Amino acid sequence: MVPLIDLKIQHRSIAAEVEAAIKNVCDNTAFILSDEMKAFESEFAAYCGAKHGIGVANGTDALFLALKAVGVGDGDEVIVPANTFIATAAAVSHAGATPVFVDVEADTYCIDPKKIKSAITPKTKAILPVHLYGHPADMDAIMDIARANGLRVVEDCAQAHGTLFKGKQVGSIGDAAGFSFYPSKTLGAYGNAGIVLTNSDEICENLKLLRDNGRTTWYEHSLIGYNSRLDGIQAAVLRIKLKHLDEWVEARRSHAKQYVQLLGDVPGLTLPVERADATHSYYVYVVRADNRDEVMAQLKEKGCGCGVHYPVPLHLQPAYAFLGGKEGDHPISEAYAKQIISIPMFPELTAEQVAEAADIIKEVIG
Ligand SMILES: *Cc1c(COP(=O)(O)O)cnc(C)c1O
Repeated sequence: MVPLIDLKIQHRSIAAEVEAAIKNVCDNTAFILSDEMKAFESEFAAYCGAKHGIGVANGTDALFLALKAVGVGDGDEVIVPANTFIATAAAVSHAGATPVFVDVEADTYCIDPKKIKSAITPKTKAILPVHLYGHPADMDAIMDIARANGLRVVEDCAQAHGTLFKGKQVGSIGDAAGFSFYPSKTLGAYGNAGIVLTNSDEICENLKLLRDNGRTTWYEHSLIGYNSRLDGIQAAVLRIKLKHLDEWVEARRSHAKQYVQLLGDVPGLTLPVERADATHSYYVYVVRADNRDEVMAQLKEKGCGCGVHYPVPLHLQPAYAFLGGKEGDHPISEAYAKQIISIPMFPELTAEQVAEAADIIKEVIG
């Protein structure tokens, strides 16, 4: 059996270091707004080439607080892709705004800049592109549209640790960016964690207030904020794992290369693309085939783990039915939702396992 993902192998490779770091946090009882958090904030911001990092409780909060910090609020609209995890849109809703869905590009699965313009209204305040599956959205085109229309840009980098757009790490390009460190993400904590990156001193100051109950001094609060802080234990674990991020992304990219060699000419199977100006970090490796559900049942039966990211586009989710989205609104997202299959991808896969998964895929689809 080749699993879709396995977190245990990676844990074993760093277990001693992680256990010592957690013990150190406990010995110092430095749990909240600690030195470990501050060290991770600067190390991760430096890794991404951003000026500030503000650690928060999870990726959804990172996006929601980033939107609030750039000025999104009640009555505003925020443009988001129709094909993404629901937290992208939920972050917009939590900020009091309305998500406006836009279809994705046929090759990268990311929001289609050509379709953004017609979604802009007088209420539009921001664009929230997602670097989906680890491939960057077309940030040049998106930043141009934003500047021309006075909009803010918050990048959803939850799936894109270590992804480059034109040589720059994602998360350093928009007004702000939210990352998730959910355990299965490319850089995963040992529980929930997230961070916001920004190059703006003002947005950074807003975020520090928002995440900590609006606290200016211990007993003084300048605004009604939230409790969303990156805890010290998670920060200590993330500092250890950050040192391995490049090597782990490289391993994912090498598995992707092997998949292309082995599956590149299988009829009826579409592999992910990597644009010339991008590096894909392959948080998930998503292929497309017809008769998806039947294909998946056979893959599983023959021992190839698989999953779907994501089976229902956001405009068709019951949670967003109140916005009146309907079948036909976003044809590419809708068609792909019925065809996409995520196949085994994690750094510790062996070449033998990739070959075994590829053999099964060929047998089922080819
Ligand atoms: C995981 C994820 C989030 C939310 O992150 P959490 O840490 O689980 O709150 C947001 N957007 C995308 C695209 C994600 O994949």
